[in-house]
Parts: sequence; C-alpha cells; structure tokens
Amino acid sequence: MSPGYGLVALPLPLAQPYTYRIPDSLTDRVVPGARVVVPVRQREIIGIVTELTDIPPGRETRDILSAPDPEPALPEQLLETARWIAGYYGAPLGVTLKSVLPAAMWGESRVIADLVGGAISGGLAGEVGAYLERKGGEAPVAAIARALKRPVWEAVNRLARVGAVRLRVDAPHTEAGLATERVVRLADPVPHLSERDTLFKRRPAQRAAFEALEELGGSASLRHLAEQLGLSRQAVAALVERGLAREEDVAVHRDPFRDVPVTPPPPAPTPAQAEAIRAIADTPPGDAAVLFGVTGSGKTFVYLEAVRHVLSAGSGAIILVPEIALTPQTVSRVRGAFGDEVAVLHSGLSDGERADAWRTLRRGERRVVVGARSAIFAPVRNLGLIVVDEEHESSYKNGEAPRYHARDVALVRARLEKATLVLGSATPSPETMHRVGPRFHLVRLPERAGAQPLPPVELVDLRSAPRLREAGALPWSERLDAEVVAALARREQVLLLLNRRGFATILQCPACGSVRQCPRCSISLTVHQAPSGLRCHYCGHDEPIPPACPDCGNAVQRMRGVGTQQLERFLAARFPEARLARMDLDTTSARWSHQAILDRVGRGEVDILLGTQMIAKGLDFPNVTLVGVVDADTGLHLPDFRAAERTFQLVAQVAGRAGRGPRGGRVVVQTRSPEHYALATAARHDAEGFLATELAHRREPPYPPVASLVNLVISGEEETKVADAAVEVSRWCAGLVLAHRLAVDVLGPAPCAIGRIKARWRWHVVLRGEGEPLGRIVRYAAERLPEAPGVRVVMDRDPVSLL
Ligand code: ADP
Ligand code: ZN
Repeated sequence: MSPGYGLVALPLPLAQPYTYRIPDSLTDRVVPGARVVVPVRQREIIGIVTELTDIPPGRETRDILSAPDPEPALPEQLLETARWIAGYYGAPLGVTLKSVLPAAMWGESRVIADLVGGAISGGLAGEVGAYLERKGGEAPVAAIARALKRPVWEAVNRLARVGAVRLRVDAPHTEAGLATERVVRLADPVPHLSERDTLFKRRPAQRAAFEALEELGGSASLRHLAEQLGLSRQAVAALVERGLAREEDVAVHRDPFRDVPVTPPPPAPTPAQAEAIRAIADTPPGDAAVLFGVTGSGKTFVYLEAVRHVLSAGSGAIILVPEIALTPQTVSRVRGAFGDEVAVLHSGLSDGERADAWRTLRRGERRVVVGARSAIFAPVRNLGLIVVDEEHESSYKNGEAPRYHARDVALVRARLEKATLVLGSATPSPETMHRVGPRFHLVRLPERAGAQPLPPVELVDLRSAPRLREAGALPWSERLDAEVVAALARREQVLLLLNRRGFATILQCPACGSVRQCPRCSISLTVHQAPSGLRCHYCGHDEPIPPACPDCGNAVQRMRGVGTQQLERFLAARFPEARLARMDLDTTSARWSHQAILDRVGRGEVDILLGTQMIAKGLDFPNVTLVGVVDADTGLHLPDFRAAERTFQLVAQVAGRAGRGPRGGRVVVQTRSPEHYALATAARHDAEGFLATELAHRREPPYPPVASLVNLVISGEEETKVADAAVEVSRWCAGLVLAHRLAVDVLGPAPCAIGRIKARWRWHVVLRGEGEPLGRIVRYAAERLPEAPGVRVVMDRDPVSLL
C-alpha cells in the first residue's frame, strides 16, 4: 500500500513541515524532494515533500493539489544535506530549502497548464481543455479555476497524467528592470579644474555629483549614485540639463564571463603539483584533502587536474570560490580547461537564468560548477569532487538563516555523496588544520610553481621609521616611498593595501574631543569625499559634514585615521605620472566594475592599484613587483577572537600577490606592532608558525577550534527589553545545561562589542562547549527558545565573529 500522507516543507519560518493527503492520482510523483502545490489558507503555494508517512495527522488534512515536475526537483542527497543544515544550525527546514533551490522554482499559484493535444473527454476535463484552447493553449491553473468557478486541480492532474497538458511553474516576476540600467556619463571634454569654481559656484550638490562620476571613471548607474553614494537625483539631472553629462540606458551584462578570454592551463605540472594531484586522486571517496600551498604554488592547476580526473570517471565537480567578482582569473582558467562543461553561478544571473542553470546541471548537461557560497547546493549529477578554494575566507559563512558555512556543508555533502573534498589555501583556517587526521589528509605545495621564490617582506615600524613630510597624517614611510618610486621607474606595477574605505576614519572636535557617531549604530561615522559626507559603514546613514562641532560649537574639526580616498588623493599628488586605480566598495558596487578594474591592471593600464581587502585575493599579475601594506593594524585590535587570524591572512595573502613574474618582487608592511606574532609570521610567510601560536592562544580560554561556539544575539529597539530578554535567554540556556548535565559554558549575557546596529540594541549570550551537547541545545532552542515581544533572537552556530 502506498503511503497516504506527505510532509511538505514550505518556504516560511515554520518550525515543522505541514502534512497533506496524497490524492491517488499523484502517488507516483509525490516523493521526497518533489515540488508540490499545496493550499495554505487561501493561497496555493509551492513546497517540497520531505517525507512520506502512513500515519494520519490528528486533524483534518487537505490534499496536495499538484506535483508539476516529472522528476523530483531536489535530488535525495541534497535533501539530506538540507536536513543536516536545518538540524545543525537550528533553522527551519523550509527556510533552509529556500536557500537550496533557486528562487524561481518557488512561487505562489504560478503553475501554468499548457495544452499538448490528444483526446480530452467531456466533463470538467473537457471544460478545462476548451478553456485552454480559447486562451491560445496555456493559462495559469488558478485562472482556470476562477473562470470555471470550481476547483480544477484534480481534472488538471488527470489531463497531465494522460499527457494532454503539461504543467510548469513560472518564475515569480522579479526580473523586470534587470535587463537595462540607466547610466549617467560625463560629457567630454571634462571641464578643467580651474573652470570648475565658476561652473559650480553655489552649486555644491552638482559639483559633488560631477566629482563622484569623475572618480568612477566617468560613468555610473543612477542606482549606484543614489543608493550607494547618496547623491541627489536633482543634482544629476541638473548636470544633464547643463550638458555636462548625459543619461542613457545600457544593457546589463548578463554573462560577464562570456567575453573574458579563457586561460589555457600550463603544459605540465611541477613535481610538487604532480605529487599533490596523485595524493588527491588517491584520497578515498568521502574523505578530505587539505591543499596547503603557498601563494603562487599553482593550486588552481591542481584543482583542474582533480576535476579532469573525476570527469574522465563520468562524475561531476563543484568549485567554490569566495567571491566570484573578485576571482575572474579562476573562472577563466576553469573555462579554459573545460569549456562548455562549466556552469558559472554568479550574482548577475537573473532568477530565471539561475533556475535554467540548475536544470541544466540536474539533467547532467553540464558537469562542472564554479560559484560562490550557494553553489555548494548545485545539483551536479554523480558528484565526484568538491573544491573549496581559499577555504579560510569568512565569506563562506551565510549571514542569514540558515547560517551555514559552505566549507562545512561541503564536508557533509562530500561524505553523503562519496565525493572527494579538497580544501585549498595558503593560509588555512585553524579549524581546518585542527581537523587534519585520519579522514583529513594534508597535501602540501611548499614552493611557488614558477622559478620565483616567495617575496621578501619588510616590516616598517611606524612608531620610529622616518616618514615623508608631505604625507601629513598619512602613514607613509620613506622606505615605502622609495620602493614605490623605484618600481614606477622600472615600469612595474604596485599594489597598495589599506583596509579602510572612505577618506578619514573619524571626525573629531579638537576642543571637546567628541567624535561624530551614527545615530542608529554604536560606531563612529566615516568621513567621505566625492561625494562628501559622514557615512555609517554599518547602516548606510549619511549626513553632511557639520561646519562646526555640534556639541561645543568649535569651528575647527579634525579628521583622524586615513581611508582609501585619502590615500588616492595623496598618491595622485605624489606620483602625478602614475596611472591609479582604486578598488573598494565605493568604486565597485556597480555590477562587474571589479572586473573592469582588474582587466585594466592585467592589460598594464594601471601603475598603482590601491584598495581594501578586495585586492588581496587570488590575483595573479606577473608585473606586480611591489606590494605595500599602508597600515597593517586596521583590524588587529578589534575585540574579536579572530582579529589576529584575519590580520595574518590578509597580510600573508596580499604579500603573496608580489613577485609572481620573472622580475621577482618585494613587500613592505607598515605597522605599529611589528613584534605581534600575526605580523612577524606573515612577514616570514610562516602559516604554520602562526597557527601554532594562535592555537595556543585559543586553548585558554578555549575558542574554536579547541571549543565550539554558539552566539545568541538578542536585539530590539528598546534597550531594557533587550537586556531583560538576554537575561531570560541566558537563564533558559543555563537551566537546560543544568537539567541535562551538559558540558557547556553559558557566557553572558553581555552587550555586544557593537552595541547597536540600525537602531537596534544588541546583547549576546555565548555558549561554549563540544559540538555534541551544543547541537542538543541548538535543536531544542530552535523550537522552544522563549520569545519576547519586540525582541529578536538570532542563533549563530560556529560564528565567524563575535562583534
Ligand atoms: P595559487 O592559487 O596557489 O596562489 P595559482 O594557481 O594562481 O597559484 O598559480 C600561480 C601562477 O603559477 C599562475 O600564473 C600559474 O599559471 C602558474 N603555474 C601554475 N602551475 C604551473 C606549472 N606547472 N608550470 C608553469 N606555471 C605554472
Ligand atoms: Zn549606522
């Protein structure tokens, strides 16, 4: 006898799936993983069958209305992976599945019936057929029901069974407006600096808009100008009216990688690569290999050979990269090796395109996927390999529920599907190195692939090193200056890292000492120029720079701390001949602008590339011979257990961009803490030395990977309510720990280091212990944690930061 009921997960924050009766006509299609249409109150929405059962639920159940796909949308192992995520991170299964399956495959009442032909008998089925014919062959099922004033699902399903109609689920209409984008472009020739004072006299908003456009290379989308830079629409319109700029519609580049030249792989592996390739091929299915290879050791080529190996065995592969926009080189190498086998999943895809890519993979028409975090859910058939490149990157952690870490999901999925997992990095995470053991094999590439050694790194002590006088407040040592001068003279390229965007970090009154804070977040506002303003990097709050101190009225205000905009201005004055490019959130949030900048660097049209951590990742430019870290201490003293780890990774990674070509290279790191182990080890390219010290620090008090953490963040608009709720949460956890004698520490409640974001006060409770008892608390808390009105509790297991 077939089971009579199906449990259906809905894309709603419900703790449990709903139970529905399976009508006889659908028994063969209603299987775990299938999409079904079910009634929820007055709506018909799409859910995923998670389980079948014979046991009738207590109350009256409604019927599943339809199962539109001939084959379940979700393969069994992906459903299993989703179950693991939901359980491990304490997220509802429906919400988890929503991030697994592309958005376009969900939807409300958008099942379309499409008349195929064949004989249709009379009765209701006949009426449905006649209606469809009148409508030119297809219509939404909901519309048929409205027209015939009767429920029609049963008749429609019958017609589908005999092949008279085909059902499909239409994407919700989210694509409108994506195809073209309104762009403003400066007219040439651009007025000279001296003309501007007259041109923009008493029109500061226009001048700001003008200079912002100029800074963005002459053009930008209206959306970017308004949303990211907060420029007034009127000012832009005025520029257009005065003939200084024009507006036009530009097609949004749908496949930004289509025109990127593919890169052919190197002819032969080095001996170390050959050994690594063999070691990965020998890794038993379901096990992991940690590819610990120094920067420039040729890890990508090893990945490619591993992919080639599984493809030749008839399997498929997933390659995860931290941020696809920042790694066009990896994409082009994968495409260079496997051409049309490759599906690239990137944020520029429309919902429809993403769903198309999903189906192509599901059918096995493409077997290799490259993508960021969510590509871990790609329905690759017969999965043989998962590569996680730069596995230490925190962007693999999802920032909303389900708060999964793609690297850890990859491990689960690899075990379920008997695929090999490869975790690659020059600066592996403490978590990954801690796991090395029986099913976690360490594979090394200790040297660079080319003839060049790792570049020497010089630490310059900013407390004592002579500085260039004209640099003013900017930390710019004579050492770094001399190296830049020399590199430019040799016509080589320079990379300068300053991990702080904006012009200056804070605005402070020298008389009363007050610093402008965000009114909605407990963080100081960053000073920006072009367009000028004080901006909050957490919530986007934006206000004009006040003419005098709002607290004491003092007319002079001082800027402190240097951002990329100020660095750029200094460099333009110091090296007037050099061609500069700046890469940070302010210059790149227009689509694919990263790639435009990197392409220019690749073509040799840029002499100095400066930017935030964006320039530290994965870039492979042989003509970059000098890397300078302007201020290595920007993240070193954050009150977070990963502050040293992040600093080490950032400095070691950016240092690894130097000297990749025949001319070699060098690195200059400016810091006030040259003796700090994160910097001392980064300067020696000594990842193991760093990890040893870091692990020792994380023993007492224990932090990951020595102990696991769950961060419970309690937030709300009323401070006292939040504090009370935090006390309640911590009591509840402590009660559970006591009642079940769990080896878990309940730390807090305490205000978060960033005590307020977007007008919400934040407190947290941290649970610390081994994975097993923490897991029990998480599962229990997911359903039972007490709720308080006006307060939200977010549960973050294995948090990447505690700020
Ligand atoms: P990683 O990711 O380990 O930092 P990449 O994969 O970017 O290193 O490789 C660094 C450089 O070395 C690239 O330019 C690549 O083309 C080159 N390379 C890699 N393997 C070989 C090889 N076997 N022979 C010659 N060049 C190689
Ligand atoms: Zn803010």
